[in-house]
Amino acid sequence: MYEPIPGKRIFNALLDQDCIVLACNPRIIPGVAKGIFNAAKELDAPLIMELARTECNQHIGYTGLRPSTLASRLYEVNEEVGHDIWALHADHIGIKTGLPDDMADAKELVQEQMDSGFTSFAIDASHLFDFDGATVAEELAPNIKATIDIANYITDGMSGKEYGLEVEVGEIGRTGDGGMILTSPEEATTFISALRDAGIDPQLIAIANGSTHGNVFDADGNPIQQVSIDIERTKAVAGALREAGLGVRIAQHGITGTPLGLIAEQFPHGDILKGNVATLYQNIVLDALKEHHPDLWQEIWDWTLTNKPMEGRPDIEVFGKNVKHALKPFFDMIYEMSEACEAQIERESYKATEAHILAFKSAGKAELVRQAL
Ligand SMILES: [Zn+2]
Repeated sequence: MYEPIPGKRIFNALLDQDCIVLACNPRIIPGVAKGIFNAAKELDAPLIMELARTECNQHIGYTGLRPSTLASRLYEVNEEVGHDIWALHADHIGIKTGLPDDMADAKELVQEQMDSGFTSFAIDASHLFDFDGATVAEELAPNIKATIDIANYITDGMSGKEYGLEVEVGEIGRTGDGGMILTSPEEATTFISALRDAGIDPQLIAIANGSTHGNVFDADGNPIQQVSIDIERTKAVAGALREAGLGVRIAQHGITGTPLGLIAEQFPHGDILKGNVATLYQNIVLDALKEHHPDLWQEIWDWTLTNKPMEGRPDIEVFGKNVKHALKPFFDMIYEMSEACEAQIERESYKATEAHILAFKSAGKAELVRQAL
């Protein structure tokens, strides 16, 4: 009844509508998923639900979930809520080597995702980069090849059904004195044009533009806000894609920690068409666990510092960056949380989602998608 719709329908309907579609990561489902779906429904905002390959795969990722479990749990929650404009998205289908075993494993993952009803996919072969390439096209050739291979696999598997497609450059690329070199407009247009030439039709591209995944800390390990996204470069890349007549816009990863005022006032809505918010929801769950289940929270804290240490870094930073790895060993205990704990998570997730939808200017935009269906 409230099954996910093809991501392509959402992204194409909202192309140049000056809004950002909120993509949420329900890494821990209880309370989180319901709060998110309810807020999106209440504000009539389009919604993406997504987990990455590392988090959720056919071998069970670090969230303790596999694609079929994630999908069925989300359907169950949304059957109750009833939000109609949403897509189930496979975030970061990361291709690390591009070798036959890696590609075969990625296809096995994609197969389970398709079988489970996923309607949108992000192929991330950005790790494949030819440093010896003489031109941008040559540098990107291994990424292009792997992306085409997986995209064709999805197209075949979906047998005529539409789906959303996000592709990625820049996770690993050239680094300079100041760290990673940001994706250039030429890199983005070269990449997308090559995919188009091969009959692949992405709606979104993730680029290197200064964001980081996860919580952000300063040199001393104090949690800080993220203000590092290079807005001018982001606009330049989107502008080049627009000028080239490519109906592709930017997927902004790693938004957690970015001040909402900055998003509302300075983010280029429309140039950025999809915005991923992940760690924020994990933080909400951990705060609630600390309050309602302090012993469990302490066990998770101790486990993280013991099993995922970071040489010379303060405990709070180690926890903030690595607690995600505790989700699988503590899966059963976390999912057995009290009703009061779950209710708090739901309230906080609702509030956070509402605030992001407003900052993303996507309230009311579900109607545009509905009309285009
Ligand atoms: Zn990401």
